[in-house]
Amino acid sequence: MKLNTFNRYSLAIELLSLDAKISIVAEQTGLSPEILRKLFLEMHHRSSSRGSLRTSPGFIFKSFRLLKEATLYAFFFRSENSTDFCRRAINAYRRYATYIGTVTKTHPRLDFSDAWVISEWLDTGGIKLVRCSHCRSANLITNELQHHVCCVCKS
Ligand SMILES: [Zn+2]
Repeated sequence: MKLNTFNRYSLAIELLSLDAKISIVAEQTGLSPEILRKLFLEMHHRSSSRGSLRTSPGFIFKSFRLLKEATLYAFFFRSENSTDFCRRAINAYRRYATYIGTVTKTHPRLDFSDAWVISEWLDTGGIKLVRCSHCRSANLITNELQHHVCCVCKS
């Protein structure tokens, strides 16, 4: 997508307000990481977090609570019907964070950059949102099983 200067900056501010990693924002907006770090500092009064994006979905499955939240995020991402990947991720993350804040009165366990890579894996088939063939609950899986049974129904 080709963005004009105004749209570049407004998208950058939107992503930075969600605490997105500089590498994501630079790629999406074409703005330089130096400018983005400055913007981040002005907005949050702290430096942007360093470190790279997660490279495999293993972290999602390390905690039941995180897996539940990732499943919820995946559900919201899947139900976004914009054709723009970035817009879907932003909208889905807002819905997810609002839901967690309202229902559990806690902070979301997934940060925006985690949600971003989950969205990429969902689009490329690295992870899949499937229904338990027994109780129909939504589940995230990494391997392709024709008849998936969730952990509750398995036990
Ligand atoms: Zn089940």
